[in-house]
Amino acid sequence: MVVDTISKKQVYEWLADVPDPEIPVLSILDLGIVRDVTIDDSVTVTLAPTYSGCPATEAIESSVHSALRKHGVGEILIERVLSPPWTTDWISEEGREKLLRYGIAPPTRSQDIACPQCTSLKTELVSEFGSTACKASWRCTDCLEPFEYFKCL
Ligand SMILES: [Zn+2]
Repeated sequence: MVVDTISKKQVYEWLADVPDPEIPVLSILDLGIVRDVTIDDSVTVTLAPTYSGCPATEAIESSVHSALRKHGVGEILIERVLSPPWTTDWISEEGREKLLRYGIAPPTRSQDIACPQCTSLKTELVSEFGSTACKASWRCTDCLEPFEYFKCL
């Protein structure tokens, strides 16, 4: 496929299929790290790294590469932008709903973390460290279900 037959919209659709390696229920678009797509002689995808030093950044870049190559894009450039920095505020509304459905409490600026199972606010921190560095382990004292909280950043 030659680059000038590809539309920006098309590239965004392909990127919507690229999962976040740590939370595969979220695509990198839900995560809010895709800052721009430009198409000229090559397709350039501008990404904001998530947590600094998060090993997911390189995994994401290589997934973007393979996703575009799979659709026949030959020339692919990945650029990283550090500013404005990514925070959990960039996670889309749809992304937050997906997290909840997956049983992960989405990041919130509030002190009250609602249980993703029963929405109770009677929850307590079990450990700052969940299955990955960006999540913490919590427990609901109403339904007693343990859950993960995507830490706010
Ligand atoms: Zn609960």
